[in-house]
Amino acid sequence: MFIENAYTNSETSIVKECYQNEVILDKTIFYPIGGGQPGDTGTFKWGNKEAKIINTYSNQDNSIVHIVDESDPIPTSGESIDISIDWEKRYLHMRMHTGLHLLGSILKYGVTGGNISASKSRLDFDMEDAVDKEYVNAELEKLVDADHPISSSWITQEDLQNNPEMIRTMSVRPPSNAEKIRLVKIGNIDLQPCGGTHVNSTAEVGKIRLGKVEKKGKRNRRVNIELGD
Ligand SMILES: [Zn+2]
Repeated sequence: MFIENAYTNSETSIVKECYQNEVILDKTIFYPIGGGQPGDTGTFKWGNKEAKIINTYSNQDNSIVHIVDESDPIPTSGESIDISIDWEKRYLHMRMHTGLHLLGSILKYGVTGGNISASKSRLDFDMEDAVDKEYVNAELEKLVDADHPISSSWITQEDLQNNPEMIRTMSVRPPSNAEKIRLVKIGNIDLQPCGGTHVNSTAEVGKIRLGKVEKKGKRNRRVNIELGD
């Protein structure tokens, strides 16, 4: 459900499967760890019981698995439960994640890695040049102030093959094995294949600035961002 609407922070779901302290639901708002973004944490409630979800991941069958804190009760199959994510943390992930897209639109180099957390996030760029921090900070501020809308759409491999120029504009190559690819578009400044959670417009990223820039080898610059608040 986070793909359709990243802002849904509570929902009622039915338990499909339980294995030890792992639970699979008929539908979920929990983002599974991946793409450099942490798995969501949150709470399940049913009857007078409550369980903390300490992490979420996607298994081999592409089912989203919720890990219940070992000291908490486990719901049973078929049970209807109220689920909620730790929204404050997830919203920080959404702002950070969107901020990394903005960073990638300013530093037009190949991206070789990345990581997101609520307190700081980074992208690794395949670049030899030094990073002009003042310039990047000013550009980030401009993009936030311009309040560009953010939207997503689905395309097929065939669509991509018919639009080779589309791929050339992307700093991340679309996966060649997926039948359908989700594209995330930020105004007219960024278009990437991405399955993560983003805010609805760049103004929501808020105060953002560069953190440390680390030299990790001749052709690798690790560029960190922080949120101002
Ligand atoms: Zn993204």
